[in-house]
Amino acid sequence: MTDLALLLACPKCHGNIPQDKGSMRCAGCGLQYGKKGEVYDFICRELYGSQDEYDKTREILEFWGAGWEKRLNEDEHSFIYRLPKAELEKYLNDFGSFHKENNFLFGNEVDPNSLESKTSLNIGCGAGDESAFLAYHGSSCVALDVTSQAAGAAWMLMDTLDSNGMAIQADSRFMPLRGQSFDLVYSSGVLHHSPNINRSINEIHRLLKPRGKAYIMLYATCSLMFLQPRLIGIFKGYISKDRQIEYMSRDGEKDWETED
Ligand SMILES: [Zn+2]
Repeated sequence: MTDLALLLACPKCHGNIPQDKGSMRCAGCGLQYGKKGEVYDFICRELYGSQDEYDKTREILEFWGAGWEKRLNEDEHSFIYRLPKAELEKYLNDFGSFHKENNFLFGNEVDPNSLESKTSLNIGCGAGDESAFLAYHGSSCVALDVTSQAAGAAWMLMDTLDSNGMAIQADSRFMPLRGQSFDLVYSSGVLHHSPNINRSINEIHRLLKPRGKAYIMLYATCSLMFLQPRLIGIFKGYISKDRQIEYMSRDGEKDWETED
């Protein structure tokens, strides 16, 4: 079983982060990080090249944070955080069957029986069921999300399972983790929202062990799911490539704010 706290590293300089009663200061560059409840917080102004880049990141974080706040309290999601361990295990077995039947990543690309003793990273952990699934099948799992709400939700589920899990609020462009630490990276429906997907992919490459594997689902460029928000963005005046990326990384999924 991997001691996940030992995998933490400064997202700015990749230096060691000695932990002392919740206070964490990088031994390399001196940057200070924190922990809110059970969630490590690794988003700070110093990571970004400009105030504008940081402000845009905060807008993304607040948009998705408010979305998760709302979604996690809806009946569709909220019940799983109240399930006792045995019921949660049953839910995760059904979750695996659903993935298999619908040709999703778990059960098809990712064999649950291959996860035992592995170290996994779930980028954009959302409601937490993917991280819980990875941990339930025996991997030591780091649940990472740009929002503290989603990271905290994943932590709750992994805690109910008595599994080995850690939750981190971080930006996929600056992941606070040691290089070559993970056997498996899993990210479904997330990285097309990154303001710099190349940087996020380079980070995943840095974190994988030799022969480690990344399983990544993106919206297909020609799918309606992707085209619809792009067109809406263009109508709203997000015309240049940079502005389109800005739109798709935050406002592209308006159903997160409205009732439908
Ligand atoms: Zn540092």
